[in-house]
Amino acid sequence: MRKPVIAGNWKLYKTKDEALALIEELAPLVTGVDNVEIVVAPVFTVLPALPAALAGTGINLAAQDVFWEEEGAYTGEVSPRMLLDAGASHVIIGHSERRQYFGETDTTVNKKIKAALKGALVPIFCIGETLEEREAGNTFKVLERQVKGGLEGLTETQFAAVIIAYEPVWAIGTGKVATDDQAQEAHAFIRGVVAQLLGKNAADKVRILYGGSVKPENVKGLMSRPDIDGALVGGASLKGASFASIVRFGE
Ligand code: 13P
Repeated sequence: MRKPVIAGNWKLYKTKDEALALIEELAPLVTGVDNVEIVVAPVFTVLPALPAALAGTGINLAAQDVFWEEEGAYTGEVSPRMLLDAGASHVIIGHSERRQYFGETDTTVNKKIKAALKGALVPIFCIGETLEEREAGNTFKVLERQVKGGLEGLTETQFAAVIIAYEPVWAIGTGKVATDDQAQEAHAFIRGVVAQLLGKNAADKVRILYGGSVKPENVKGLMSRPDIDGALVGGASLKGASFASIVRFGE
């Protein structure tokens, strides 16, 4: 049994006070939900303010990125040790916005996943094709390259902690959700690539989240598909009521 994960990626939103207000709204709405791993990912500066507010809520804390070195002359970067120090347990790696705007590649993503695992953080490893790639019929080719590149050199034991998030770039922030069939097809393909790389056991166990315009209205259909194990939510995670509804699969 794979425990579903519902993660909110707050992107570049929410100051400390706004984040605390959101947690105050969200926490009572998800009390008693123990069949879902709930995660929120604020900006770096807000991380240290949240552990006290999250204590006892069952909500986990993630960062939105990490650097691969532990320390050194790397101006502007944040290491796994420092994320742990700030109270994070999870970290989003390789989000398409980082690939698109900040030069993230399969190689840097791979280094970050390895560093996160070494630092005892749970990586939420993001992949997904652009509209152009989908329309050219290259979706599977791109996903295979991203999965193999991102996971290169990992053992089955190391991989056991990794969560994968499939986020088709054309569905992010556009209101255009992938159909349940499109998402399921991609997830089954990704699980197949993991099986090839690390074996069937690893593939059976890995949680694969869908991301891209997930809302309370569409989460139930997505979650009913066999290879969809949760969601990585952007816009709809910024309000307590809508995120809580997604955590409850639209109920
Ligand atoms: P939206 O839910 O706003 O489409 O964003 C998805 C996403 O990028 C989550 O990481």
